[in-house]
Amino acid sequence: MGGMDGTEGSTGAGERFVTGADGVRLCVAEHGEAARPTVVLLHGYPDSKEVWSDVAALLADRFHVVLYDVRGHGRSGVPDPLRGGFTLEKLTEDFLAVADAVSPDRPVHLVGHDWGSVQGWEFATVPGTAGRLASFTSVSGPCLDHFGHWIRRRVRRPTPRRAAQVLGQGFKSWYVYALHTPVLPEMAWRGVLGKQWPRMLARVEKLPADSYPTASLPEDAARGAWLYRDNVRQRLGRPRPDPYAHVPVQLITPTGDAFLSERLYDDLDHWVPRLTRHTLPAKHWVPRSRPQQLARWITDFVTGVEDTGGTAAGAVAGTAPGPVVRAVAGTGAVRAGASGRLPPTALGKLLPAARERFGGQLVLVTGAASGIGKAIALAFAEAGARVVAVDRDAEGAAGTAELSLRIGAPEAWPETVDVSDGPAMEALAARTLDRYGVPDVVVNNAGIGLAGSFLDTTPEDWKQVLDVNLWGVIHGCRLYGRQLVERGEGGHIVNTASAAAFLPSRALPAYSTSKAAVLMLSECLRAELAPHGIGVSAICPGLVNTAITGSARHAGVSDKEQERRRAKSARLYRLRNYPPEKVARAVVKAVLRDTAVVPVTSEARGARLLSRLSPGALRAFARVDPPL
Ligand code: NAD
Repeated sequence: MGGMDGTEGSTGAGERFVTGADGVRLCVAEHGEAARPTVVLLHGYPDSKEVWSDVAALLADRFHVVLYDVRGHGRSGVPDPLRGGFTLEKLTEDFLAVADAVSPDRPVHLVGHDWGSVQGWEFATVPGTAGRLASFTSVSGPCLDHFGHWIRRRVRRPTPRRAAQVLGQGFKSWYVYALHTPVLPEMAWRGVLGKQWPRMLARVEKLPADSYPTASLPEDAARGAWLYRDNVRQRLGRPRPDPYAHVPVQLITPTGDAFLSERLYDDLDHWVPRLTRHTLPAKHWVPRSRPQQLARWITDFVTGVEDTGGTAAGAVAGTAPGPVVRAVAGTGAVRAGASGRLPPTALGKLLPAARERFGGQLVLVTGAASGIGKAIALAFAEAGARVVAVDRDAEGAAGTAELSLRIGAPEAWPETVDVSDGPAMEALAARTLDRYGVPDVVVNNAGIGLAGSFLDTTPEDWKQVLDVNLWGVIHGCRLYGRQLVERGEGGHIVNTASAAAFLPSRALPAYSTSKAAVLMLSECLRAELAPHGIGVSAICPGLVNTAITGSARHAGVSDKEQERRRAKSARLYRLRNYPPEKVARAVVKAVLRDTAVVPVTSEARGARLLSRLSPGALRAFARVDPPL
């Protein structure tokens, strides 16, 4: 096994060469201080180590970051002959040579993408790496042995669903068959495919046009075909009987991966005792498209493993949340660790998927002090998200942040703002960016009720309801939409509209108009933000039992009559008794599935259906005086 030579390479960043299996020289680049924990980033196919450059830059403050070109790729040497030069056994020797050279005294944390992840699974499951590997983060590359067992199980005990899963993945693996044909892949890569590849990546994967991929790509891709030829058929046909992971593993699965089905990882808990799962709405090349998110998850995971000496990692997605995990920062005074009854949880069966997706993400909710907004904040907290609870009611926002911590959020902060105040919202967006980063999910939920006929509704009434219900949403979408686009890592915006958005009513003209505008705004914004990987959902609840009935104004009536009407609608909402937690669950589901419009409650679904099938019936119904 390996020695080391050379010092500085031509591409800077302290490149040097390490000798791997069969004397092949591996080009290694290092960033950050060597005394820090070492994180090795391993590239896939067809790539070279530069695929990791953005993630490496983000991690270099905290870690000793190491990248190397896999044999036959980039500036590394080429095995001779090629056939048999790329077996997983040789790749494991290469990895150990690099690990010994860059971190002789401490095991390293490995992060692999695509074939780098296929290799990583080998390192994490063979005994020869014990003591040299501290953790493994897998991005878009399965363990060939797990894959072999996955196919066997489905072929030996077939059901229609299992057959569909195998066919589905078989379909996605078309390129693997192509790479097994002799000579043609090499010709294609050295010819037109190699030339077109950067353009294809930019178009299909929406990658930023920059210095990636590098000029070595056609040669890397031509030689790298041997990664497949030397390993795939052999391992899938005769998978090792015991590919159990001996280190904590973090699995990051992009949901829009054209090459790998999410179902591939269904059996993973069997092989990996300490497993943390994350999904993210992205395509295959996440090291290029989602560097910030990857860097965050890698940082949290590696830090967790380091802090616990490798024992506790994997707990994030696998176990129930503890009472209070971390202290709170922010404007309001939130006491971590307060006791008292916890509110009802919202997620139920949705919890595992929600934890996978939102664990560690940042979620900002407006109108979070009460009712639906509070339930939404707590649902994301239950899923392990970091929560910013925004409301004009400072005490209520602090209460929600505190409950968020107790229900499972690793961090939570209250923020006080009037959403209708443009400059205050701008200040809020700047403050949250500075303190907590860009929210992955923004829920523009704050709203007020206003009842009363059109002729009774004064311009001031109109202004008030539009300022909060519409302008509050416009400010939130504009400011956080901009942050999300500039970050370039996707995300989601949820706007709370109402069934009133498609339900005309003689008694709620201003409120319904504000909500119809929110619905249309959401639809338009959805179209605009889709190319950025940012989803937009409009939530349209019917009657939900919250405090809104107590604060909604009734225009054109005396104070006494106002109180009578409020009490009447409160009674009706109590009788309907639809809990805000169910709306929160619908919101989480809408983000997971990227649903455009979500009517919640049966009356909202019915109204939505009627608005399409029989708008005349709704018009007749609009003449009846409703309760709010
Ligand atoms: P709620 O009164 O319980 O909660 C609304 C929250 O928004 C409160 O905490 C309030 O302080 C906050 N808020 C109001 N104006 C604000 C402002 N200008 N700036 C910051 N915060 C402000 O009401 P809810 O029922 O939970 O309503 C939440 C959203 O759901 C609203 O947009 C409402 O229109 C909508 N909605 C409610 C129902 C329902 O039946 N409850 C139905 C459909 C839609």
